Amino acid sequence: MHRILSRIVLPAATAVALTMSGMSAASALPATTVSYDLSLAGKYAGAVRQGIQIWNGQLKNVQLKEVSAGTPGAVRVRLDPVEDAAPYYDSSVPEIVFTQKQIDPIQSDGKPYRDPVRTFVHESGHSLGLAHTGTSDCTFVMTPSPSGKPRGCHDYKTPKDREYTAVDKRQSTGGSLPATGGYVKPDTGKVENHTAARIS
Ligand SMILES: [Zn+2]
Repeated sequence: MHRILSRIVLPAATAVALTMSGMSAASALPATTVSYDLSLAGKYAGAVRQGIQIWNGQLKNVQLKEVSAGTPGAVRVRLDPVEDAAPYYDSSVPEIVFTQKQIDPIQSDGKPYRDPVRTFVHESGHSLGLAHTGTSDCTFVMTPSPSGKPRGCHDYKTPKDREYTAVDKRQSTGGSLPATGGYVKPDTGKVENHTAARIS
């Protein structure tokens, strides 16, 4: 706590106003903003904006924000019409890639292979420092989709409380954002370090 307070200086008037509004010192700390550049997201931009709203509705220490094209440090969201692989987050760019061939195909229930909102909430979960859960419980947005049959997980688009908490807690201990390592498993709190920049 001391380390965090020492690197953030609030103007005195702001501190007084926050105190008077009844907020604790901890919650008065400004949230860290993670920026997303949607200029290459194409038709998925609307789903990305829904996903941003979902995360922002419950996160306390981190907020996601749409920024204009080419903003330095932003996570680029890109529609890829060619690659036939699962959607992924690549921390080396950083970018989230919507691989259209494994999102759009309509299944027997009339729904697409993957839901674009769940796809963004999951991949942005990686950019916020979350690893996959170790379970098959699809109500966690960070549970990887079953191989070859992702649809079952894609009806769940809203993170569980433990997933929001994992992002907030990781930020409060100084994890890099957008994440380049130190990914936290939301079901157990264990930290995983991936050597590859790309996580599906
Ligand atoms: Zn994943």
